[in-house]
Amino acid sequence: MTEQRNVFSGRRAVVATMHGKEQAIAPVFRTSLNLIVVPATGVDTDALGTFSGEVPRRGTMLETAVAKARLGMERARLPFGIASEGSFGPHPLLAIIPAGFELLAFVDDERGTTIHESLVIDATNFAHIVTSPAEPITQFLAQVGFPSHGLIVRPNVGDAQTKLFKGIVDLSNLQSAITAAAALSDDGCARVDTDMRAHLNPTRMKSLTALAVRLSDRLSCLCPSCAAPGWGRIKVIRGLPCEVCDTATEWVMSEVFGCAACTHEEERRRSDGLTHTGPANCPWCNP
Ligand SMILES: [Zn+2]
Ligand SMILES: [Zn+2]
Repeated sequence: MTEQRNVFSGRRAVVATMHGKEQAIAPVFRTSLNLIVVPATGVDTDALGTFSGEVPRRGTMLETAVAKARLGMERARLPFGIASEGSFGPHPLLAIIPAGFELLAFVDDERGTTIHESLVIDATNFAHIVTSPAEPITQFLAQVGFPSHGLIVRPNVGDAQTKLFKGIVDLSNLQSAITAAAALSDDGCARVDTDMRAHLNPTRMKSLTALAVRLSDRLSCLCPSCAAPGWGRIKVIRGLPCEVCDTATEWVMSEVFGCAACTHEEERRRSDGLTHTGPANCPWCNP
């Protein structure tokens, strides 16, 4: 890495959030880059999509995160903006396990770049249950970390979007919401979902901190050619040869590092030094 001045030291960046995400992100950027992260005030990030589905998200997660960051930058009149976007659902490899996917983007208008990092998160409380007012749901509540983690209640069948009780963090509100939602539902049941908004979800705040570490580490890496921050891995090249027959396998052969500001790229061999893989991974030896 080139020895260069940290361009972010003492500067300010805005994080567009209605959900207190600056608490998870700001200390990381302050420590690693001396970048002061401030929350944007009066930015309606829910207009770009909500977890509970009243406003569907348009565009990819990255596009949505960049749009959010830009809202904050315009409001705060700052050239640096940060925004995150999360999605929760079945695990990409093991569909029975819930997983989260978080993306954190940094928009830099001084260099015209966007740097982002993302993370698949195995530790998530994402879950739901369908229940009637009389049923005990103690086990579910323990599993999702209620009441330190918030809940959303809606009618199980019928008008689920407008009759939504969000941000429930105490038992008496939970019980009255279940009773009200069940009464509005065609089947007399309420659906209880985890509220994934960051300020009601300490598990998600932890994931955001981990992601902030990744992103600030990347911003600390400077392009060896133009010294712009954000140098890092941009893609992998597959085709590590089989040690028996030399056929290209699906295994990663090398990683390509690139710059967000210029076209400089470097291909690096695997960091573990592996130059071949076994015949078990070979499409010719083990079809
Ligand atoms: Zn560069
Ligand atoms: Zn082979």
